[in-house]
Amino acid sequence: MPAIQEGHYQCPCCDFYTLVERASYQPCPVCYWEDDGQSLDELDRVSGTNHITLREGRRNFVNLGACDQAALSLVAPAEDLSGVRREVRATV
Ligand SMILES: [Zn+2]
Repeated sequence: MPAIQEGHYQCPCCDFYTLVERASYQPCPVCYWEDDGQSLDELDRVSGTNHITLREGRRNFVNLGACDQAALSLVAPAEDLSGVRREVRATV
């Protein structure tokens, strides 16, 4: 598997720069959140694509390493992340 390519946009769930475009419904390789365009200003809205809120997905990524338990086996191994930028955004 090739290492992950850095994208222009931050994933709304894991904050890594993995997205080439927003709202493309591609699963993030780092956390497996499918980007439906939801952003941090809608943390408590249940994502129709991911079936959980973005707040829950972000918490799961911190605690589990994926946006939910079922995605754990799908996410990229940590060594593939080298060189991909991450800027953690604080949420309230
Ligand atoms: Zn992600």
